[in-house]
Amino acid sequence: MEPLRIGGQQTDSAVGNLTDSGTATAAGKPQSSIPLLDLKREVAELKPQVMQAIESVLDEAAFIMGNQVKQLEQETAEYLGTKHAIALNSGTDALVIALLAAGIGPGDEVITTPFTFFASAEAISRVGAEPVFAEVDPLTYNLDLDSLEAALTPRTKAVIPVHLFGRPLDMERLMDLASRRGLIVIEDAAQAFGAEAGGRKAGTIGEMGCYSFFPSKNLGAYGDGGLLVTNDSRLAETAAMLRTHGSKRKYYNERVGFNSRLDEIQAAILRVKLPHIEAWNEDRRQAAARYHELLRDIPGLMLPGEVPDGDKQVFHQYTVRVLNGQRDALQAGLAEAGISSIVYYPLPVHRLPVYADRGLTFPLAERLSQEVLSLPIWPQIEADVQEHIAGHLRRLMG
Ligand SMILES: *Cc1c(COP(=O)(O)O)cnc(C)c1O
Repeated sequence: MEPLRIGGQQTDSAVGNLTDSGTATAAGKPQSSIPLLDLKREVAELKPQVMQAIESVLDEAAFIMGNQVKQLEQETAEYLGTKHAIALNSGTDALVIALLAAGIGPGDEVITTPFTFFASAEAISRVGAEPVFAEVDPLTYNLDLDSLEAALTPRTKAVIPVHLFGRPLDMERLMDLASRRGLIVIEDAAQAFGAEAGGRKAGTIGEMGCYSFFPSKNLGAYGDGGLLVTNDSRLAETAAMLRTHGSKRKYYNERVGFNSRLDEIQAAILRVKLPHIEAWNEDRRQAAARYHELLRDIPGLMLPGEVPDGDKQVFHQYTVRVLNGQRDALQAGLAEAGISSIVYYPLPVHRLPVYADRGLTFPLAERLSQEVLSLPIWPQIEADVQEHIAGHLRRLMG
């Protein structure tokens, strides 16, 4: 097995420079007064509790694998409804460790979406397996399951579905397909903490689920962090062992693992935030409903569609499609008006330099990359801010 150690990775930052989130814009654009995500406001509101949580860690002077991590694991497992939750360094590590725990490596193929953050595919390459892409559904932006089925080969071992922008994938259909074809399902729920598919939390339906606590995610730490959940005790044990240098017992290392622990300070901060996640996600849904009312009659703008009964979207992003071919001009016009927006993702994964030599093409994913635009959203975004944004969108689309 290839020895693995990940450091200095790129991140999927929704807010650009997170030390200056109040002025984040698409790269190279002038300063905006409306950010994509107002983290400064959240921090200001939570600061007293967060400072207290940090202080209690300092008072304990236990910084790694102490009580905070243990309790965060219990509390997230309880909230999500899984037997096991393992706190990790990042969502990317969660994906890598999930693949290794499932025994996936060289010679195996893993199918994922080309319309996602690079990490979903990177993790597959990282463990020496082959990322295989399938086409996406242009209404949900998620993997198209017919295309996925068509991409299966005898070497396909697993699937990594991504609940993109917090919209759950059709897990019932995917799990049915997976059980018919003997596939392991590792959910990339990095953007979907708290989302629900068929009444169950996204990330808890496949064999394993992976979440990110990157600061801009719906449940974000104030630094890097991630979580792996599963109901399978053997997978949980392997993942926990990989987290700490491949050892169950200190200094008796059984295999090559990682140093991928979440630290106590981040765990303590996440424990302050976890009790709010249901309300925050509900607030995001309300903000999305408000956008829908404000934008629905603008010709050439395609809005996120409704989810089926039993599903709950968490609007990590509110992402529209600009159908008149003028997406970049629209984004520039918004920036001029002081409104941040961002393109997730300007290049589909199969067209990134790292995989471009494969010469793959997925027309729908490529088209989405040309048409999507994510608008400012956060739980407490005010109606008048949304009205202001909608007014400029209407003017610019006119
Ligand atoms: C953020 C993200 C990741 C990676 O999470 P990190 O914690 O930044 O490593 C993986 N997949 C998707 C879809 C993401 O948005």
